[in-house]
Amino acid sequence: MISLFQNEWLMLITGLVVGSIFGSFLNVCAHRIPKGKSIISPRSLCPNCDQPIPWINNIPFFTWFFQRGRARCCDFKIPIRYIAMEISSAIVFGYFFYQFSLHNDLGLTLSGCLLGWILLAVIVIDAENMIIPDRLSMGGALAGVIFSILFPSIHGYGMLLVPEGRIISGLESVLGLLIGSSLLFWIGVSAEKILGREALGMGDIKLLGCIGAFCGWQATIFVIFGGAFLGSLVSIPMLLIQSKKRKKSSVVTDEKEATAFGREIPFGPYLALATILYVVFLKEWIDPWFVKSFFFNDLS
Ligand SMILES: [Zn+2]
Repeated sequence: MISLFQNEWLMLITGLVVGSIFGSFLNVCAHRIPKGKSIISPRSLCPNCDQPIPWINNIPFFTWFFQRGRARCCDFKIPIRYIAMEISSAIVFGYFFYQFSLHNDLGLTLSGCLLGWILLAVIVIDAENMIIPDRLSMGGALAGVIFSILFPSIHGYGMLLVPEGRIISGLESVLGLLIGSSLLFWIGVSAEKILGREALGMGDIKLLGCIGAFCGWQATIFVIFGGAFLGSLVSIPMLLIQSKKRKKSSVVTDEKEATAFGREIPFGPYLALATILYVVFLKEWIDPWFVKSFFFNDLS
């Protein structure tokens, strides 16, 4: 039984399959959560004509492939982001399942999959609706604290299996939650004073709390600056193009368009992207920059 879990290929494939199912569920959530609807019932409906979808026509990826990107009920062209989300979720789960075969660390795999799934959902929902639902940000923050108590290995306390390890790991999670969200809160209110308008939403602040609860305070500092960097990489060229267009038409018709920065460009997706980069590629390189856990140094 244990050797099954140590087979990298088997774990990778299992992760890809489980991830694509969760990716399909993610699409349901991205469609329903912003409208305040239940994500459990009713069962899967066509996003276009609201007809129930039989399970055989609702198999991640394959359905899309065999129906050539169209819904069977109403010939609705399924948006490419549906399939993009199934594939992204499959990759995230595949990666963390694969990690399990290498490190045998259940906490790392479960929390990685959960956080990855939440971040992907935030990317779609915030990009489309300019909101980050509390169910994801606050629910995620709570889950981060609970996972940290259950699996101290998340915060690098794998050796301390005694209750002390759980308490320290839980405290580190709460510390990450508080440092992350309060830091972004103060950046937000300072920017608001300087710019004279709202620069950050409460949703971004709560999301960074969730990221801190899972990844610790070190991650939140990287994610704020990494997210801002990624955001400006994308948004500055976009704003330049917009202002060029506006100069051509020479009349500002849309009040909203005149004050685009910060309001029309959601920050959440970039925070989420920076977190994924941190967890998958950059953690080993960034963490030594901070003194690991300055409060509990002698215990680790
Ligand atoms: Zn339909």
